[in-house]
Amino acid sequence: MARRIDTYLANLIGEDKFAFYEAVRDFSDEQVAPHLLTWEREHKLVPDSCIQAMGEMGLFGLPIAEEFGGQGGDHLDLCLMGLAIGYHSQAVAITPGAAISLGAKPLQLCGTEAQKRAHLPALAAGERMIVFGLSEPGRGSDAANPEVTAVKKGDKWVINGEKCWSTNAHWASHVVVHALTDPDAPNGKRSTCFIVPMDQKGVFYQEMQGKKVWEQSSTGSIMFENVEVSDDEILGEVNNGFKVMVTTLNGGRLFIASLALGSLAFALDRCRTYAEERNQFDDKPIGRFQRVQDVIVDMDIALESGLTWLTHCCDLYEKGTLGREQAAKIKVECSRRASELVALGMEICGGVSSFDEFGLIRHHNDLFVTRVGEGSNFALKDLIVRPLRKG
Ligand SMILES: Cc1cc2nc3c(=O)[nH]c(=O)nc-3n(C[C@H](O)[C@H](O)[C@H](O)COP(=O)(O)OP(=O)(O)OC[C@H]3O[C@@H](n4cnc5c(N)ncnc54)[C@H](O)[C@@H]3O)c2cc1C
Repeated sequence: MARRIDTYLANLIGEDKFAFYEAVRDFSDEQVAPHLLTWEREHKLVPDSCIQAMGEMGLFGLPIAEEFGGQGGDHLDLCLMGLAIGYHSQAVAITPGAAISLGAKPLQLCGTEAQKRAHLPALAAGERMIVFGLSEPGRGSDAANPEVTAVKKGDKWVINGEKCWSTNAHWASHVVVHALTDPDAPNGKRSTCFIVPMDQKGVFYQEMQGKKVWEQSSTGSIMFENVEVSDDEILGEVNNGFKVMVTTLNGGRLFIASLALGSLAFALDRCRTYAEERNQFDDKPIGRFQRVQDVIVDMDIALESGLTWLTHCCDLYEKGTLGREQAAKIKVECSRRASELVALGMEICGGVSSFDEFGLIRHHNDLFVTRVGEGSNFALKDLIVRPLRKG
């Protein structure tokens, strides 16, 4: 059976974009899918050879300007990569995905010319990565108020505290640290972002152990003990760090929506194939039962509407008119709908769904991250409700 997602994308995006999607899809089929079970069973992070191959395809530089070594593409390219690789593995897709949307992109949007020249070419080539240090052990949803501090002493800033959940930490050369710099200022104006080298004195990283979601993705905890940085390492403006983070998250949430839809697309194909091939009761396919059809039809509707919405939001993002609520809404809706439907899809495939090699359990588990990551869905509703309460 042809992939349902291909049918929809062929009609939604232009020929060039579809050709790009097909190239990444083929890469994912040939160089990711066949190895996933081994990587999972051996508890491996994305192997360096796979990262190198994605780098050679230009996947780490998709929306980065050509003058800085990127592909000069747009946010839709990034999301098409999320769909094509996320179809098999969100964990593999998030590696270039976070490296761009949480690493390179904030530099492109908020960095100085010198910072862009120093970092973007290597980031766009996938030779190194920058991680996004927003979350902390004591600060998740309340990210505007970091416990990590940066105090000015002479001409240096001294950073102390801990960041956690830092995606790609294992491969990172630098971390963007969101730190409290003016505790008495109004909410949203208290913090500053610093680009800190991972090998700087006083920076300690360790991989977070025991994570059963996004298993091939690196997730680190990073400690800062009297780490000294200069003004040159400030990303954006002093006491405007939360704006840098929020600007970053708008694009990141679209990418998370693409991962959720990639998982949904896989589950839809898996379920409709299974429903046609599994014969029972007079040796006829279970796909003839209306309740089985209901799940498949709902998956199909959610996929088509989600893809249409995603391409629209990417368009608004490029025009600079995507509102924070809009980015939050699509992340909330795609993640929760895909999560509900993949769980139902597992039911219609019965016991075989519980095996790793069938693939659904991987997507089911990974979809949890799409609900909680880059702002938990429950907390994001605080943002979505704002325009509904005005006037
Ligand atoms: C695999 C993975 C990768 C990640 N990668 C990164 C990364 O690269 N960089 C980074 O900075 N962070 C990263 N995160 C962290 C992620 O952004 C946080 O998990 C998320 O912001 C939620 O924070 P928390 O887990 O501390 O939950 P908490 O803030 O403790 O919230 C717990 C729950 O309380 C409820 N809640 C909280 N606040 C509200 C509210 N205002 N209204 C209603 N309900 C609320 C929600 O149900 C929420 O899920 C990652 C997380 C995971 C799991």
